[in-house]
Amino acid sequence: MRQNHGGTLGAFRRGVVRVRWVIEGEAGVAQEQVLRWFGDGLRHQLAQELGEGPATQVVWNLFRSDEPRTYRRRAQSTFVVGVTSGPEPEDAGDVLRATYPLLVRTLANLLIYVVDDGERPRRTYFVTLERGHYALDGAGPDYFERVLERVEPLAGSHLVIDNLFLTDLPAEWADGNPRTEQITAAGRRLAELDLLPAPFPIADLLPPRDFAHLKRMFQMGGLSYGNLSVREPGEGFWMSASGVDKTRLRRVGEEILLVRTYDAENNRMVVSVPPNVQPKRVSVDAIEHWMIYEGFPQVGAILHVHAWMDGIPSTEINFPCGTRELAEAVRVQVATTPDPGHAVVGLKNHGLTITGPDLDEIFDRVTPRLLRQVPMQ
Ligand SMILES: [Zn+2]
Repeated sequence: MRQNHGGTLGAFRRGVVRVRWVIEGEAGVAQEQVLRWFGDGLRHQLAQELGEGPATQVVWNLFRSDEPRTYRRRAQSTFVVGVTSGPEPEDAGDVLRATYPLLVRTLANLLIYVVDDGERPRRTYFVTLERGHYALDGAGPDYFERVLERVEPLAGSHLVIDNLFLTDLPAEWADGNPRTEQITAAGRRLAELDLLPAPFPIADLLPPRDFAHLKRMFQMGGLSYGNLSVREPGEGFWMSASGVDKTRLRRVGEEILLVRTYDAENNRMVVSVPPNVQPKRVSVDAIEHWMIYEGFPQVGAILHVHAWMDGIPSTEINFPCGTRELAEAVRVQVATTPDPGHAVVGLKNHGLTITGPDLDEIFDRVTPRLLRQVPMQ
């Protein structure tokens, strides 16, 4: 048995929504039922959310967890919500183990995992690329409204992941300088603290064709977590590249990049590289670091890790990594701290962004207080 339902269902508050509703299966009827219930309810809710707005396209890809279906977006800006169902994971650690591979394999931005209890789900998990996971309990009359409330800010946010490479890096920096050496040393310190979760083995989970698609669309070499940067006064800032091994940050233009500015008109980061290298993209969080350096001249270095600390201010919405909205939310939180030059700010369901005069000072100050577990809500 195979059902395919697709098409434009109207508008989704601020944008056009195309619902791709695909349910497939012969066995596992219970799972199919819960997905059908979700699809029907979602369509009903979306029909009530009519409105005009810029075309943020949201694709809902409903798939069985034992047959993950990939939706290949044709534009970077398409936001893909994967929806599937399955049994309640046994403990909190299992949520990520059971669900994160499905998020990656289906190339989704966000995964909704509906716990299949036979009838109405008792719990629904939301799982993000940053490895955030949080639950919505119950399935009352306002269930789909609550689902959309959680999806909308994420789906409506804007990625800044394109880079413009200028081969104008001053020749005397082609092999680095004291600021890039700070980044090299700090990457090793991160590893010593065991603060680098193993990069997700994305290439092992994806067929080569999907991995190539992902690399083409997002210019990513893999999923890695955490990044760091140091200001080069008057010139911009040095930052770790995207998807590289943080324990071996050394080569300028490949593992460490000089970010000059943000080109708002073309929505891309401007990066200076030496003329003779095949440059790697800067970390997707460059837009966030740029906003902090712009807003707070006293900040000399920034560290982002997937860890937590007690008693810190935190963003309220878990915008995805690499979006202008996350960058702005973090900048606002840094501004609320008594000393933005030595700030520790929480990124909800994600990690910490820490400012300081240099990376060594940041490590010395925060290491004793770091908590490995990021609270999820
Ligand atoms: Zn992160």
